[in-house]
Amino acid sequence: MDIGIGLLAAGIVGALVGAIVAYAWRFSEHRQVAAPPEPSPLIPAGADAVLSVLSSSAVVLDASEEVVRASAPAVALGIVRDGRVRDEEILSLVRQVRRDGHAREVDLDLQPRRGATAHVHVRVGTLTSRLTLVLAQDQTRERRVEAIRRDFVANVSHELKTPVGAIGLLAEAVSEAKDDPDAVARFSARMQSESERLTRLVQQIIDLARLQNDQVSDDASVVKVDELVSEACEHSATEAESKQIEIARDIQPGLLVHGDRGQLYAAVSNLVENAVAYSPEGSRVAVTATLVDSSVKITVADHGIGIPEQEIERIFERFYRVDPARARATGGTGLGLSIVKHVAASNNGTVEVWSEPGAGSTFTLVLPEHRLEIEEETA
Ligand code: ADP
Repeated sequence: MDIGIGLLAAGIVGALVGAIVAYAWRFSEHRQVAAPPEPSPLIPAGADAVLSVLSSSAVVLDASEEVVRASAPAVALGIVRDGRVRDEEILSLVRQVRRDGHAREVDLDLQPRRGATAHVHVRVGTLTSRLTLVLAQDQTRERRVEAIRRDFVANVSHELKTPVGAIGLLAEAVSEAKDDPDAVARFSARMQSESERLTRLVQQIIDLARLQNDQVSDDASVVKVDELVSEACEHSATEAESKQIEIARDIQPGLLVHGDRGQLYAAVSNLVENAVAYSPEGSRVAVTATLVDSSVKITVADHGIGIPEQEIERIFERFYRVDPARARATGGTGLGLSIVKHVAASNNGTVEVWSEPGAGSTFTLVLPEHRLEIEEETA
């Protein structure tokens, strides 16, 4: 049983990480289009043609280390400055290659601009008897994707272990208590709630994996804000009822936005869910949708526990919870607001927050208004 659950968890982690990396990779491919560099009369025509199709940054140096040709990305990366290669490590490789003709490579951190670091893989080789070629592959994005992947694997594994471990222990307890029907009923109810928590966690991780690159969704359509907000409120109706919380709606009719409906629903329902979860019994949650300067503002305001000022910056991070024990009690995963932030970014919007401990919180999702006449004008 434990091995089965372990394998399942490993499978889930593997699939999710694969999805994240695939999305990140697809995004990086979009960015590899570079302007063709100027041809140089000193470089043999065949070599020039090959250089112009390489995705790496290319620099050709003559025997006196003068730059004969440099592609635009080589300049953007800071390899060539004021017409010369400035990096001592690259120059040292160039000299070694000129001496014995053997190609060499090195990984370097360059500073294309103040405060920015680019991780590049540099390869130096002989082009002709007089010319040396420096190729540099910018690997900054791949490194970042790898760091995100490692971080994500560690977090997901940790978060999945809790409910998976609990289900394993409860299953053991059920089999040991088979002669005590009350205990069996108690343990199975807890198994059910742990499995619901696991399902929710997996669903949110999948949502987040899809959203990770803040790319505009392929599934964008015109979305009616009143329907969207009403459905999101309905989603929390049972939970609100059980705490005697009133969800009051004030939605301007006829508002439209253009975006991925599923994503927008996930964002608004996460905000309403949080408002209910972090509010005391018998309080009121107000959900409004208004048009302000061509932006649709969806606000979810509560009179709950609020968020300390120093925590506000961190609540949008994946798996971050202000009070992990309390969040666990409310079934929180620490992923809801991270999803909201990515949905806003993927739909050309933003998310704002006001909060005061003890007084309550107001989250505002701001999205560009969609006007039908714009569509008709361009049709
Ligand atoms: P969770 O699933 O834990 O609610 P979220 O990403 O949605 O995760 O929220 C992150 C943290 O921000 C929560 O654990 C909670 O501490 C805090 N938080 C979010 N919404 C509210 C709210 N309306 N009132 C008070 N605290 C909130």
